[in-house]
Formats: sequence, C-alpha cells, structure tokens
Amino acid sequence: MERLVSGIHKFQADVFAPNLAFFRKLADGQTPQALFITCSDSRVVPDLICQADPGDLFVLRNAGNIVPPYTPGTPSGEAATIEYAIRGLGIRHVVVCGHTRCGAMQAVADPQCTASMPRVRQWLDHAQAAAEIVCGCYNHLTGEARAKVLVQENVLVQLEHLRTHPTVAAAMAADELTLHAWVYKMETGEVFAYDPVSGQFAPLLVGEEVTAEYAPSRRAAVAQAV
Ligand SMILES: [Zn+2]
Repeated sequence: MERLVSGIHKFQADVFAPNLAFFRKLADGQTPQALFITCSDSRVVPDLICQADPGDLFVLRNAGNIVPPYTPGTPSGEAATIEYAIRGLGIRHVVVCGHTRCGAMQAVADPQCTASMPRVRQWLDHAQAAAEIVCGCYNHLTGEARAKVLVQENVLVQLEHLRTHPTVAAAMAADELTLHAWVYKMETGEVFAYDPVSGQFAPLLVGEEVTAEYAPSRRAAVAQAV
C-alpha cells in the first residue's frame, strides 16, 4: 500500500496542481464520450489504452466484462450504471471490451477453476452462451486459438445482453446509441474491433469507427485476427 499512498502524493503534486484549471472545471460536471465496459483485470487500464483524460470515459468493470441480461424487478449495479450513462449523461457510444489472457474466460472454459468460488461460478454463468457457441462453432480449435475465440464471442454475447436493457433498446431504436465490440490484446497493446461486414475482429485503425451491428449468420466465420 505504501506505493499507492506515495502515488497519491505524487499525483497531487505533479498532475493535479499543474492542471488545476482543468480539474476545477471537471468538478462542475462530466460529459463522457463513451460508456466503457471492461474486465476488472488489473492489466486492463481503459484510460491508458485509449489515452483518455479524466472525464472522457464512464467505466463499468467486473470479472469478465459481463452485462447480465435485463431482469425486471432485480436491481443490479450493471443495469443502474447503463441506465444512468445513457439517460442521465446522454452517452451515445457503448464499448464492451474484452481482453486476451482473461482469467474469467479461462474459468468459463474450465469450470473446475471455480470449484471453490460459487459466487464467481454463478456470475460467469452469464458467459455460458459464449462457451457453448465456441463448442458448437469452433470445436476444431484448441489451446490459445480457442481461448481467444471465447474472449471474442463473450464480447458479442454481452452486447446481446446489453440490447435487452430497455434504455439501450430505446436509444438504439431512436438511432441515438452505437455499440462497439472490442478486444484488447495485452501481449501487443493492440485493440481489435468487431467488424460485422467480415464477421471478424480486426485491428482498429486511426480515424476508424467500427460499429458492432452484429450479424448472427456471420458469426461462424473463424475470427482469428486477435
Ligand atoms: Zn478478464
């Protein structure tokens, strides 16, 4: 913890103080560009990856970048955060960003990993569809290739869950919301975006904005780019 505490002092002296006007303005309110849903993994740092400033990203994190489907009458942190982002803050872009070497996805692939963690097991059931898609469509893949495709399919499954949330459905119907499916490759620092035309994840290029208007029939295309 010592390192974290000294980090706070360093932040105050080297970052906050020299940018006082910026932080004071930020204190008056936020207008983030996107809701960024990603994994809790400590190696995935959205602001760093996107080189975003404070105030740019409204972030929702949990194990496996999961969005539980909307369930009437059941409050959840995810549902509240999504609703607030869209209706409260007027956010028009939602990114679901998975990542390679994801421990949560490894546990989805091998449920034995979570034998002593029943709450984790229960949570990861929200990614079960991705596991079964991999078994059904990519059973010829093994090892690393299979793990990568599970990460990709999970991002797409969570986007489908996202669409079950009334705020998302309404904003999309009004053409006021765009969904993005990304995978961060931690071995290289690259970010791949799902391209519904090719049905594959491809590296994000400068100036490019790929939207994940997902076409189910294209899913079986082997997505090996990541
Ligand atoms: Zn992860």
